[in-house]
Order: sequence, then C-alpha cells, then structure tokens
Amino acid sequence: MTRTVDVVVIGGGQAGLAAGYHLRRKKTDFVILDAQDGPGGAWQHAWDSLRLFSPAAFSSLPGRLMPAQRGEEYPDAAHVVDYLAGYEQRYELPVHRPVRAESIQHDAGRLRVETNAGTWSAQAVVSATGTWWRPFIPTVPGQDVFAGRQVHTTGYRCPADFAGQRVVVVGGGNSGAQIAADLALAEDVTLTWVTRRPPRFLADNIDGRALFDTATARRRALDEGTGDTGDVGALGDIVAVAPVRAARDAGLLKAEPMFTRLTADGIIWADGTSTRADAVIWATGFRPALSHLAPLGLRGSQGHIATDGTRAVDEPRLHLLGYGDWTGPASATLIGVGRPAREAASEIAACLP
Ligand code: FAD
Repeated sequence: MTRTVDVVVIGGGQAGLAAGYHLRRKKTDFVILDAQDGPGGAWQHAWDSLRLFSPAAFSSLPGRLMPAQRGEEYPDAAHVVDYLAGYEQRYELPVHRPVRAESIQHDAGRLRVETNAGTWSAQAVVSATGTWWRPFIPTVPGQDVFAGRQVHTTGYRCPADFAGQRVVVVGGGNSGAQIAADLALAEDVTLTWVTRRPPRFLADNIDGRALFDTATARRRALDEGTGDTGDVGALGDIVAVAPVRAARDAGLLKAEPMFTRLTADGIIWADGTSTRADAVIWATGFRPALSHLAPLGLRGSQGHIATDGTRAVDEPRLHLLGYGDWTGPASATLIGVGRPAREAASEIAACLP
C-alpha cells in the first residue's frame, strides 16, 4: 500500500523537526520519517562530556526556547535530546520511528519514498538526514596493519574506555580538541594529539553566538549583494569550551603535525621516529548522509547536490536541510536551521495545488 501526503520529511533530528514546525504552520499534510528508535537525532549518540558551544537560549529551534540546564551554562547532549523530545510533542509532529528511507524516486510528477516500513508518495521531499551516520576517515598508510583499536568520533564515549592506554587523537576541529581535552585531563591515559595544521583556538570570549552572528552577517551581505564577508572559519576552528580551555591552559593540549603511517603497534613521524599506540581515535569529520537520494542521480563532484537555497537545482520537489553551509549559512546548527526550514516550507507550500 502506498500512503499519499503533501510532504515527506526524511530525518527526525533538529533539522527535520524545524521543517515540521514550519510545514505545520503552512497547514500542509506531512510526515517525518526517522531511522532512530527515539527522539534526538545524532545527539543521542554523543560522547559523555560533549557540551554545546552556545548557551541554551542560543541553541533553540523556532517557536520554543531551549530551557537552561541546571548548573551548566553550556548544556550537554542529554539536555538537547530532552529538548527535542519535548519539541516534537509540543507541536504534535507526526514522526514515524523507526523508519529508514531507502530510496527516493521520480514517480509520475511526484516523488516516491521507499522505506523499510512501506512506501509514501509525496509532492515534495525534505531530506534532513544529517552527517553523523557517514563518518569520514582519511586513508593513511598502515591503517590495515595497526593491531590496536581504531574508532571514529562516533564511537568515542569516555576516557574510562581507554584507561591505561596510549591514545592518538587525529583531528584539529572541535571534536578532535574536545576528545583530546577529555583524554588529556584523565590521569591514566597517555595522549598524543595530531592535527594537519596547527590548531586554531578561538578567543576565549567567543562562543557559538559569535559564530552564528558572523554567519548571519555573511548571509545578509550575500543577499544584499554587498559582497562576501567571509565564513566563520576565518575566526578560528576550536571553541574554547571549559574542558578545552582547562587542558590547554594546563599545557596538556600540544598538537603534533600529522604522522606519515601506522605500524602494527604505533605511528611513524615524518622524521622517521615512532610513538607506540594502543588506540587511534579519528576525529576527522563527516559527510552528508545522502545514499537514499542516489536513484535521483543528483550528486555533483564534491558529493554535494547543487542547491538554490534549500531546493535541489535539478529536482525542485526536493529540499535539503541541515547538512552545513552548503544548504544555508549555519543550517547545521540548532539556532541556524530555523530560517532555512522556514524558507523550504514556504517554497513547498507555494508549489502545492
Ligand atoms: P541529525 O541530528 O543527524 O538527525 C538526522 C536524523 O535523520 C537522525 O535521527 C537519523 O537517524 C535520521 N536519518 C538518517 N538517515 C535516514 C534515512 N535514510 N531515513 C530516515 N531517517 C534517517 N550544533 C549546535 O547548534 N551547537 C553545538 O554545540 C553543536 N555541537 C556539535 C558537536 C558535534 C560533535 C557535532 C558532530 C555537531 C555539532 N553541532 C552543533 C552541529 C549540529 O547541531 C548537529 O550535528 C545536529 O545533530 C545536526 O542535526 P540534523 O537534524 O541535521 O542531523
């Protein structure tokens, strides 16, 4: 049996919920399909010490402020999961779980969404599947001979899992710095932190609020045609959240340049010397999780789909939301996804009969 709706939103993380909020306001008939067992998207899987890089009120979806977390200026991931669970209840968003969209196909002027729980037919699809589900690990010689443990950011939980071990953390972004700080502050872990270029810490008084303001100013300048004011990357890479600052100030966060290869029991540096390691944690990023869109044949050379705002250029019934700057400045953040979600919902509603 095929179910027919105006809009199918794929993904029930923050981006899918923000889309749902605005689609509801536009009085469209929609469903949200989410592969997880429970609410919260990727936040359900974050490591124990992860903290948001903005205070709660600056991490809110449209319509409802995130409440402060008691005793924490920067909330943890469990707090975000609670907020998202409350959000979908508050707005009675029709989330179907666990439902995994397997493929989207053209179907007589509509889009057909095949899932592990049946078929939906829609006038429009919003893809909001995030990146957490497609971890990226660069190819480095010796990866296959290393006898220790290798995990990506997505598999990291807490220092206790590495007690008594020599651990190499690879990556100079926020994930790499936070995981390195977590391990550096643990007494029984020997840390080596490796980054491709020297780590760039943001000034201590800059947090996600300033990053969002920068992204918003850029968006405005681009919209008004007054030139590109530059993206947030120009400010630095690493928000100095409390544990990062503590480890850095204690002199425990010293980064080494990238090693050249792995051996069975460690790493080899560019000068030929070696360091023994029991584990390597790859904090090397993510790619958009877009495999369900493959039948539409829309992907360009970077693995991205060409978009105009959130709308796919070559398939106007498809909108993409929340994957990064590529689908709108700051659209992969809690506070930033509201605006592109509103624009997507407005464009979709305008095209419905
Ligand atoms: P997700 O949370 O990944 O949700 C996507 C949902 O879609 C998931 O439930 C997934 O299971 C589902 N899905 C995937 N594929 C399918 C499919 N085929 N069919 C059905 N469902 C599917 N942002 C901030 O604003 N503040 C921060 O402090 C912050 N810190 C971050 C720290 C880290 C380590 C990372 C990785 C990101 C951080 N972000 C932060 C960025 C961003 O807010 C998160 O990545 C957020 O999870 C993105 O939400 P999303 O809805 O786009 O994707």
